Amino acid sequence: MISPVLAATAAPFSSFSSTSFTRKRGIFRHSSSSSRVASSFSASSSTNASSNTDILQAMCEAVQLCSKLTSKTQKMLESSDQVSKLDDSPVTVADYAAQAVVSYVLEQKYPDVALLAEEDAKALRGGSEETRGLLEKIAEITNECIFGDDVSVYLSREEVARLIDRGNHEGGSESTFFVLDPIDGTKGFINQRQYAIALGLCEKGKIVGGVLGCPNMPMSKIPEDVDALETKKPGVIFAAYENLGCKYAAMDAKEPVGKDSFTATSDQLVKCGEDGARYMESWGDSIVADHAFTNALSEKVGITRKALRIDSQAKYGSLSRGDAHIYLRFPPKTYREKVWDHAAGAIIISESGGVISDAAGVPLEFGKGRFLDINGGIVASATPELHEQLLKAIADLR
Ligand code: AMP
Ligand code: MG
Repeated sequence: MISPVLAATAAPFSSFSSTSFTRKRGIFRHSSSSSRVASSFSASSSTNASSNTDILQAMCEAVQLCSKLTSKTQKMLESSDQVSKLDDSPVTVADYAAQAVVSYVLEQKYPDVALLAEEDAKALRGGSEETRGLLEKIAEITNECIFGDDVSVYLSREEVARLIDRGNHEGGSESTFFVLDPIDGTKGFINQRQYAIALGLCEKGKIVGGVLGCPNMPMSKIPEDVDALETKKPGVIFAAYENLGCKYAAMDAKEPVGKDSFTATSDQLVKCGEDGARYMESWGDSIVADHAFTNALSEKVGITRKALRIDSQAKYGSLSRGDAHIYLRFPPKTYREKVWDHAAGAIIISESGGVISDAAGVPLEFGKGRFLDINGGIVASATPELHEQLLKAIADLR
């Protein structure tokens, strides 16, 4: 039932030069070349390798720019006076601004491709002084990130709110749209641990592209003897496209899917047993982690290594380059998974040679709206064999 595309058999990415989006005075007007790219992409992305790499490059640019914003904001959180200055909404400000930045970059290049994203600006449109101040702060951060010192260009508060609200697409299996989680793993973000900027591309219900920015992830492999991942700049960016494989590069790379990248391949030799597979799960305070069940499961399949605790979809990135081998996620029955929490990660797993499904072995279906209907959790594994073994053990334990 599950047929992963092995990275080894996938065609390599073609190398291409980076094309930066252009800055214009005032609110951007789309150029005809943007529209041309959008329509050639919409027509047939799966057969047009050059437009596929173009769109992946544009997605990388959006995520790289956004990571500058989130890194700067996260650094400010280290200083308690700055946290209180932002009046207990520092993360909210960063989430909204991050979404506005990605929305801006994507709209410039692909104005006809919709956006399904986690945040909306409803709460920012109230008339109170507090709300206006919050939106002003978000607009300030957004403008600074996009335009730097160029004060001749300024997106108004209303324009920034509109950019955020572009993310209100309902999804489904009929259209092509981007899927964005501007800051995935908020708890990790606040606590100076891992978090991710997760951007997927969904075409007729199927995720065909994904970029995962992990601004705190080390470029080097996670050491054998640690149970958490250290925070290290500049971070890592992962990018995958259907049938093109998965790449990773330093977050500040000029060509993150070109000459500056490395191929991400999940560990194809790993087995359970002594010094074998190691699994990842969320931190203890996460609603989506069931540590008692993951302990029981790992014992049943013979995993001897202790769990690696990593926030956010950074877990998918770690699995894709062979740092760890299994991602286990078992939320309570009442919890509904959202598409933005897995869209980018899912294609990164399948294109690096791994397998992802729900806990019953059903592939994740991204064309059903803003939520995923899953059975009993989500499992991602480095190899099909490991995956089958885990699914069988889960069925036996339940
Ligand atoms: P993780 O970092 O693995 O815990 O996963 C982070 C994602 O899981 C977040 O972006 C949320 O969508 C979801 N999540 C984790 N904890 C909670 C919670 N307490 N309530 C709602 N969603 C949660
Ligand atoms: Mg999230």
